[in-house]
Amino acid sequence: IFVVRNEEDRRRRILVMLNPKSGSGNAREVFNMHVTPVLNEAEVPYDLYVTKHSNFAIEFMSTRCLDAWCCVVAVGGDGLFHEIVNGLLQREDWAKVLPSIALGIIPCGSGNGLARSIAHGYNEPYFSKPVLGAALTVISGCSSPMDVVRVQLQNRSLYSFLSIGWGFISDVDIESERIRVLGYQRFTIWTLYRLANLRTYNGKISYLLTEPEENAQHTPELKMQTSRSCNTHIDKLSTTNNNPSFHHSTEYLPHEFADVISLETSINQSFRSRCDSWLSGGSRRSYYYSVSESIYHSLADDSDFAAQAAISLENRQQNFGPTSSLPELDEPLPEDEGWLVEEGEFIMMHAVYQSHLGIDCHFAPKAQMNDGTIYLILIRGGISRPQLLSFLYNMSTGTHLPEVNNEYVKVLPVRAFRLEPHDNHGIITIDGERVEFGPLQAEVLPGIARVMVP
Ligand code: ADP
Ligand code: MG
Repeated sequence: IFVVRNEEDRRRRILVMLNPKSGSGNAREVFNMHVTPVLNEAEVPYDLYVTKHSNFAIEFMSTRCLDAWCCVVAVGGDGLFHEIVNGLLQREDWAKVLPSIALGIIPCGSGNGLARSIAHGYNEPYFSKPVLGAALTVISGCSSPMDVVRVQLQNRSLYSFLSIGWGFISDVDIESERIRVLGYQRFTIWTLYRLANLRTYNGKISYLLTEPEENAQHTPELKMQTSRSCNTHIDKLSTTNNNPSFHHSTEYLPHEFADVISLETSINQSFRSRCDSWLSGGSRRSYYYSVSESIYHSLADDSDFAAQAAISLENRQQNFGPTSSLPELDEPLPEDEGWLVEEGEFIMMHAVYQSHLGIDCHFAPKAQMNDGTIYLILIRGGISRPQLLSFLYNMSTGTHLPEVNNEYVKVLPVRAFRLEPHDNHGIITIDGERVEFGPLQAEVLPGIARVMVP
């Protein structure tokens, strides 16, 4: 029943998106000197696009036909990666495209939080040769699901893979731009300046804690080969299919294959319903169906099955868009669905979903790429300066967070939150870039993207 992918499919090319203005402005040289030789040696074909301006990657990824590429690799910083993610999610066919294109990063920016987080998550060394390490990751062809956070601002929505910040750290990131000439030192200098002139911000933060069992569902991280995964897993499925105990062994299977199994066999009702509850929630559901679709393409010549699959997908795609499970931003949050509130004076709020915000900022040591969790970190007004200084100082080693939440520092694993600042000015950043100031809400879309891993 299962037919291997054709040769052409296997040879899909890599799309390289390079920002010549990243970091110190030498991404092009870095790519030519350190990445091209690796790609050539591995005989991996690629197409290089150099960004011409800010938002170039958003426009490219949201409008071009991407069928020729199996993955897109950002040669730049987190800002370029952010554009790629947002471009993809602006597509009408995002649900089909996103699971079928793996996202990679070659760190050349001044912010390389994602590259550092990936290396950390896989126990890979980072500091000696980060670019070479990332290039090897790209040719390895391995990828893993990654959470993306949907952020609703007053007049638009966007997608984030790293962080949402309000207060101290965002102030330092943005305000220190004015002393950019000092290089990396600017952060330290501006941190000390801000500490001396400490500000608090008034606001309300509402949040939905992650359910512990929801966490558990995501933990055995799915790791698959971009090119070989389907075949390997499908081989496994075809053997287990004839096995009466098959439905007991489904836990270990990547859930993107669930639909294929259930459609193909149409026999196992209990398995089917388990998949549905397992994958309940709009975004996850469309992810699951759409990943299945890319597999249908590799299922080749069983035309009955293909037809059935196509109809079922069409029905589903009408029902499952990238919808939000939250009320509109200007509507009140439901009273009895578990929303909790922190209100008053804050030094900062930083919501993060990768372990590192930068190469030496180990901000959320527990964060994993696909844990369906936003780590909401709050510092309350009233914290002493020495305590705050030690928090900021220890961020580099990931030893800044208290084991148990205290009056001033709180770490909350959440799946959604809403921020309502009570002041009318201040700095809010998303993935390190400044956005318009005002209320916002965010929710995690678990495992919706695929990122290349070692
Ligand atoms: P860094 O980490 O140094 O900030 P990024 O690659 O993240 O480097 O890029 C930062 C920003 O540069 C991105 O948000 C993007 O909008 C912008 N950008 C991309 N291409 C160009 C370009 N050709 N010229 C100027 N800005 C660009
Ligand atoms: Mg996470």
